[in-house]
Amino acid sequence: MRPAAKPLGSTRIHNSGRGNFYILEKSSDGWRYQHRLRTSALSGEEVHHKDRNSLNNASENLVRLTPKEHRIIHLGKRKT
Ligand SMILES: [Zn+2]
Repeated sequence: MRPAAKPLGSTRIHNSGRGNFYILEKSSDGWRYQHRLRTSALSGEEVHHKDRNSLNNASENLVRLTPKEHRIIHLGKRKT
């Protein structure tokens, strides 16, 4: 017998392979990054974790950015 499929809204941890871990959430489209679901990120947009903890998907910790804005933050030229 196959195990029952996980219900929508289930979560699991995904190892990106570069030392970062992300939460995946099961949506009607399959497993998606929870931080992208929560911010309704569009393709081409990136989502930044303000406290640099990729497992903290509290809404106040997430911000949608263009790839360029995101790069600037991680290069340390801007604070948040
Ligand atoms: Zn970031």
